[in-house]
Amino acid sequence: MPRRLPRFAVFGHPIAHSLSPRLHALFAAQTGIVLDYVAIDVAPDAFAAGVREFLAAGGVGANVTLPHKAAAFELADVTTPVARRLGVANVLTRLADGRLEADSNDGAGLLADLRRIGTGLRGRDVLLLGAGGAARASAFALLDAGVARLVIANRTQARAQALADDLAQSTRVQVLAWERLDAAAPCGLLVNATSAGVRHADLKLPTTLVDAHSVAYDLSYGPAAQAFVDWARAAGCAAAADGLGMLVETAAASFERWHGVRPDVAAALRSLRERS
Ligand code: NDP
Repeated sequence: MPRRLPRFAVFGHPIAHSLSPRLHALFAAQTGIVLDYVAIDVAPDAFAAGVREFLAAGGVGANVTLPHKAAAFELADVTTPVARRLGVANVLTRLADGRLEADSNDGAGLLADLRRIGTGLRGRDVLLLGAGGAARASAFALLDAGVARLVIANRTQARAQALADDLAQSTRVQVLAWERLDAAAPCGLLVNATSAGVRHADLKLPTTLVDAHSVAYDLSYGPAAQAFVDWARAAGCAAAADGLGMLVETAAASFERWHGVRPDVAAALRSLRERS
């Protein structure tokens, strides 16, 4: 009987546009590891059954994206400290003893990509736009990385306040009303963790948020990030980047978690950019 390939997947809803299968195929080709990685579209009420079925059929690891990140955390037998802090998971791994582990590596992926583009974080003043799941992962990671100050502005201010309360670092974290963005001093790092770009909405940001020393980073990527990146360049930022590198970093981290080999992130990123 032919040996079954180890199985991996990404779960989401919708999932058709996910770059994860392509990324894991690129990493597999780079490292000579043979694997089977597919995208699985399941509605929220079918998520738990879908994961169990995948595991029963030889599934070893899965990436998890919207809207299943909280459900993935709930489903696991074992959770990492980072996942526990956030209450969500984007990586599921079947451990040697059969238990299911949930981890979250979005925040680590952001930090790795900021390092890759040469943005030092220690002592920086950061303005974070958004207070959803990605903003939450980013906020904890940026504080861990030693930023001097984290100001959070969100369209719905109560969510920014709730995030600030959870971060529990009153000396370093502040909330700024979205309507008061034009009164903010230029920041060292502007992180756009809103989904405005994917929703084709204009953030109408004042150019006074940044200056020639600022780095601007949008977690979304491709066409969804273009308006923000164009705005940042026109406003005179030292650097502006989209979140494709973060996505590749998170995929690389899960690949390394499952296969014990670190893939070449820069080469994968070049390949994605050339073909997009
Ligand atoms: P959520 O739905 O959890 O949060 C969305 C956030 O965007 C909220 O803060 C919301 O504000 C805000 N928002 C939405 N529309 C507008 C608007 N028109 N003006 C101002 N604010 C707005 O999404 P996620 O946190 O999961 O994802 C956010 C972005 O990050 C997405 O673009 C996603 O693709 C990207 N992402 C990228 C990753 C990567 O690896 N590069 C990983 C994870 C996410 P409000 O609270 O008022 O509704």
